[in-house]
Amino acid sequence: MSDASGRMLPALTPLNEFFWTSGADGRLRVQRCRACGRFGHPPAPVCRSCFSSDLEATPVSGRGRVYTFTVNRQAWSERLTDPYVIAIVELAEQPGLRLLTDIVGCAPADVHVGMPVEVVFEHDDDVYLPLFRPSA
Ligand code: ZN
Repeated sequence: MSDASGRMLPALTPLNEFFWTSGADGRLRVQRCRACGRFGHPPAPVCRSCFSSDLEATPVSGRGRVYTFTVNRQAWSERLTDPYVIAIVELAEQPGLRLLTDIVGCAPADVHVGMPVEVVFEHDDDVYLPLFRPSA
């Protein structure tokens, strides 16, 4: 754990390390099943659709839409004094493929459900946090 950015960082495990370090080359990766082709997130030992354990970290577009969100106004640390947006983003690759993230690069009041967003990584310690900003 580190709070250099004011954010709590995830604990890396053999299962999730690819996801939290994927941004090192600027690409978001999500677990995909080689047997049925379905994406799944968060990383799991077996596919949620067909229970195959033949899974791989697959690069995705990094594009999606805001599925839902809330604005946090609680200063959880001395570096998190401004309101910020916690959102669930649905990735473009597959309906229902969603991840929990923050929306950055715009005022919280400008965020809306369905807003097109793209990934941007925040490098902190040994992780690259996948955050999302408005896209054109
Ligand atoms: Zn599968």
